[in-house]
Amino acid sequence: CGIVGYIGKQKASAIILEGLKRLEYRGYDSTGIAVQQDRRFEVAKKIGRVDGLIKATSAQKIPGFSGIGHTRWATHGGVTDANAHPHVSSDGKIALIHNGVIENYASIKKFLLTKGYTFQSETDTEVLCNLIAYHYQKEPVPAEGSRFLESVRKTLRHVQGTYGIAVMCGDCAAEIVAARKGSPLILGVGDGEYMLASDVSAIISRTQNVVYLKDGELVHITAQGFGITTLEAEDVSPVVDKITWNI
Ligand code: GLU
Repeated sequence: CGIVGYIGKQKASAIILEGLKRLEYRGYDSTGIAVQQDRRFEVAKKIGRVDGLIKATSAQKIPGFSGIGHTRWATHGGVTDANAHPHVSSDGKIALIHNGVIENYASIKKFLLTKGYTFQSETDTEVLCNLIAYHYQKEPVPAEGSRFLESVRKTLRHVQGTYGIAVMCGDCAAEIVAARKGSPLILGVGDGEYMLASDVSAIISRTQNVVYLKDGELVHITAQGFGITTLEAEDVSPVVDKITWNI
């Protein structure tokens, strides 16, 4: 349902939770956040409202400068804490949030089970983080470019359905890869920081400069900058729009 991401110099958890609150008007049944700290993820997720997540967990206190947050509207799997996003791959390397529906999740899950990956939820989404982790393990370390970005690209080539995703990799420094197909995704280009959201209302309080991603595009964000490419690994020149209206 709703996506928020942040990389910058501020405490990511506070900015992401504020962004999630701004997406509440769209409706949702559960919510969650993952912040990267060194080489691991601190995750808090819960059914119910963003305020409930803040009260019942340590979400607000998580330190770290990059993270992702989600409001879920369940399509596959009941409304439970375990089914809330973010999901983390069973090897602990990949954290991910997802809007949309993965139609061929059952066959991907079958394949991943034979490779030793395990599942903690009933969602269609969880196959994505495990399949990215699988490709990441197999992907040779490139002379240039990003092994993480390539593993997301490979995964999305196998996926049928709709998605807006934001992904973090525990091996990397502050990095987010995001991609879309049939689900909106916007990059906010701030002052020494970047935001991601499914809806400009989650970004507008921090920056008016946005890039609207198109279907079939991936954005790779680091603390130093961002690059947009297609699923076929072609470079895309970003068009930065200025939002001149206020909400
Ligand atoms: N299909 C996913 C799930 O049920 C994502 C739903 C959404 O878009 O919030 O967990």
